[in-house]
Amino acid sequence: MSELRKDPVTGRWVIISTERRKRHGDFRLESVHIAPDPACPFCEGHEKMTPRELLAYRRANPAPNQAGWELRVVPNQFPVLRVEGGLDRQGEGLFDKMNGIGAHEVIIETPRHEETLATMSDAAVEQVLWAFRERVLDLKQDRRFRYIIIFKNHGVAAGASLDHSHSQLIALPIVPREVRDEVDGARSHFASKERCVFCDIVRQETSDRRRFIAENADMVALAPYAPRFPFETWILPKRHQSLFEETPRHECGSLARLLGDILRRMNKALVSPPYNLLIHSAPFVEPSGDFYHWHVEIIPKLTKVAGFEWATGFYVNPTAPEEAAHVLREAGG
Ligand SMILES: [Zn+2]
Ligand SMILES: [Zn+2]
Ligand SMILES: [Zn+2]
Repeated sequence: MSELRKDPVTGRWVIISTERRKRHGDFRLESVHIAPDPACPFCEGHEKMTPRELLAYRRANPAPNQAGWELRVVPNQFPVLRVEGGLDRQGEGLFDKMNGIGAHEVIIETPRHEETLATMSDAAVEQVLWAFRERVLDLKQDRRFRYIIIFKNHGVAAGASLDHSHSQLIALPIVPREVRDEVDGARSHFASKERCVFCDIVRQETSDRRRFIAENADMVALAPYAPRFPFETWILPKRHQSLFEETPRHECGSLARLLGDILRRMNKALVSPPYNLLIHSAPFVEPSGDFYHWHVEIIPKLTKVAGFEWATGFYVNPTAPEEAAHVLREAGG
């Protein structure tokens, strides 16, 4: 039997197609394999191959753009948007446009080519999250930006062009559509219930347990009720908090531990899958602190988006989230 399910945040419907009964073992799994690359621009010692760093955490040598670092943030060499210039909105009749103002940065998560977020120490993953926070706090002072999206493509199938572990950050002069839908949905839930919809999800899923995966003192990982993709996993802070960049240090530590744990479970259960990871946080310039709740979404790349999805916006997910959560719970420890 197939089932139509509605996401409680965005109101988006998905089809959970248990009829196809594709179990997680049936996916054509494409494992991520990190190949050695002597010309990798992100390896320690190759600092000259990247633009000059914007931020670095160093263990020794305090001079910038030299070896001795644990993490670096550099401008993207091929940015989708550029930071120079003023914001210029124009239109052509029906059509709106603006010039390509933004910032596009790369967070090089480790100096070591073969490491991943799943193999790095919890402390090293915490530094990555802290660097995200520092860059957002810096960039949001720029009044041209309304939103900053942080994301990671792990593996070629997920869109990574380099194997060396890195994330990206793009500051935008607009609030992106996916975030707009979540903010609008959360606002209307708040208007009728006077509660944050994400807090409601955390409360319901931690007591129900069917879609619960793992938790620690500050964070919980769960399979959402209406996931678009098999094994889609969300990590949310238990405490209501709208802005990721206001996460205190100890909560970054909790997030690092749970994130590493979830990625290791996925590596075990899904044979080191490619994945996309993103952080959704509240837009800067509109008041959404009461009802929006930041979170991490992790989406292993196990299926391809096909014509039906493009045509309708309806996602067909062959794995029920209850089954995905069960598999990931079993993969722990
Ligand atoms: Zn490298
Ligand atoms: Zn909340
Ligand atoms: Zn989200």
